[in-house]
Amino acid sequence: SLYEDADASLWVKSPLQDVSTVVGYTVPEIIRENLGGWGHLPAFECASTGKIYTHDDVLRDSRGFAAALIRSGFKRGDVVAIVLPNVVEYPSVLFGIWEAGLIASPVNNAYSDEEIHRQLCLSDAVCVVAESETLESVRKSKERNPNIKSIVIVGEPHQGCHTFKEMANSDPSGVSLFKASASDVDTTTQVALLPFSSGTTGPPKGVELTHANLATNLIQCDPGKGISLIQTYSSGKTQERHVGLLPFFHAYGLSCLIHMSTYVGAHVMCMRKFDVDLFLQGVRRHKPTAFHLVTPLINHMVNSNNYGKNELAHAHTVLGGAAPIGASLIEKLLDKAGKYFFFQEGYGMSELSPVSHVLLPDTRNTKIGSCGSPVPGTITKIVDTDGTTLGRNQRGEICVKGPQVMKGYYKNEEATRNTIDADGWLHTGDIAYYDDDGCLFIVDRLKELIKVKGFQVAPSELEDLLRKHDKVEDVAIIGVSHPENGEAPRAYIVPKTGTQLSEDEVNAYLKPLISKHKQLRGGIEFRKSIPKAPSGKILRRELTDEYKSKHGQ
Ligand code: ATP
Ligand code: MG
Repeated sequence: SLYEDADASLWVKSPLQDVSTVVGYTVPEIIRENLGGWGHLPAFECASTGKIYTHDDVLRDSRGFAAALIRSGFKRGDVVAIVLPNVVEYPSVLFGIWEAGLIASPVNNAYSDEEIHRQLCLSDAVCVVAESETLESVRKSKERNPNIKSIVIVGEPHQGCHTFKEMANSDPSGVSLFKASASDVDTTTQVALLPFSSGTTGPPKGVELTHANLATNLIQCDPGKGISLIQTYSSGKTQERHVGLLPFFHAYGLSCLIHMSTYVGAHVMCMRKFDVDLFLQGVRRHKPTAFHLVTPLINHMVNSNNYGKNELAHAHTVLGGAAPIGASLIEKLLDKAGKYFFFQEGYGMSELSPVSHVLLPDTRNTKIGSCGSPVPGTITKIVDTDGTTLGRNQRGEICVKGPQVMKGYYKNEEATRNTIDADGWLHTGDIAYYDDDGCLFIVDRLKELIKVKGFQVAPSELEDLLRKHDKVEDVAIIGVSHPENGEAPRAYIVPKTGTQLSEDEVNAYLKPLISKHKQLRGGIEFRKSIPKAPSGKILRRELTDEYKSKHGQ
């Protein structure tokens, strides 16, 4: 109808050539095809032990593991949970699950016993891959959960567990692995991955991603399509080197450091957890050509004297995303390196496999703070609270339609219906706007906007301003209830070591920079650290709960 046409003129698409749903490949198949003849090179290296897996090792082990899983009797569509830190075996475990036609559900390895138990139940896992550090929690869960048939242990053998190494060494011949070409396989409906969203705003939800969702998103982000400066082997350039610190269990780390890295034949230095010295030594030794960062890591690098031109010299690209970063932090990082790399911010969510936007390569860094354009094959729009489509420079909820939109939330039709509408638009819950050039700027989460009188205040905007202050090491803003204004912004500030910072100083600094309603009427609290999720997100909910319990609300 006329109305639909009027609406469509406001949609924003990728400036690059379209990509449609990738069929005919499972995720391991498309990765293997692109890898070409570079399998003998290092793929995953452990930063602490120096143990190296080549790309060929990854593929060989994944096939052996797949064959062993099938021989153990697991059937197509069974869920295997992975409760591992970033070990070098992680990619083989993941690909093995897929080559067996099973579904992988990655679990946060730092979760408590109860949290692990909850996800193992919610995901209906029948098998769990663990390692010595997570084994006890998994065992406790298995005692209470008869669904779990077996535990596979990565590393040293343990009683009562299958050993990954032995399984990986089994002979895949004679076993029919899961292939897209098989007549009974449909990659557009077959779920491959069942990650759980970060749980930043509520209990985590299981997100069903098909092989087609994931394979398509890989192609949508393909460096060869002009999306990034990263080289693929097939282009005959030098091998890319990445730091594998972002957790593999989260959408960002998994897509960039497992999918994309193996697709382009990169060498990833894996780190089990963040350690100031290990990270610095790893960076100095590995000389990354691209960094994959989240806000707390960028903040660390900016505030530490250890990161300068040398450490950042080999990087052509620094990628960031998963949470608001803010222009001031990005500029400080660029300054440290003498602006030689391209800062590429991306936007996405687990439900989007996970990428919907990236900033297209521009080594002059002219769009700092923007997440750029939709990736190829993706349509987006900004809508008002009443559903009207808005134009450029207008803030509203960003909605995304494309082949990377999830199949749905696992066993949660109601949540699926509330997120993906009848026309296939995924409502992200994030407030954003497009500038005149069609570049996206994320403002904040709809749920986290602070409502002061009639005005909306984005916590991330205040955080960005406060990060510019010389004495501020880290900061988080939440909304608290206020007798006259309804709500008011409240700041939690970590002052830099060796500095003194007072409430008056902070308020005086902000006063000329912001309008009245944005001022910190909810107060300021100084503290030692800000609670963060492993994906780098500020856990505002924890601060809010803490505030409420202290102030009896
Ligand atoms: P839950 O939905 O369970 O609360 P979550 O939304 O934190 O968890 P993820 O899927 O890991 O789980 O995160 C997606 C969210 O991350 C987006 O909705 C958005 O709020 C945020 N995000 C991602 N990239 C950016 C970015 N570049 N800038 C700002 N926010 C971002
Ligand atoms: Mg979410």
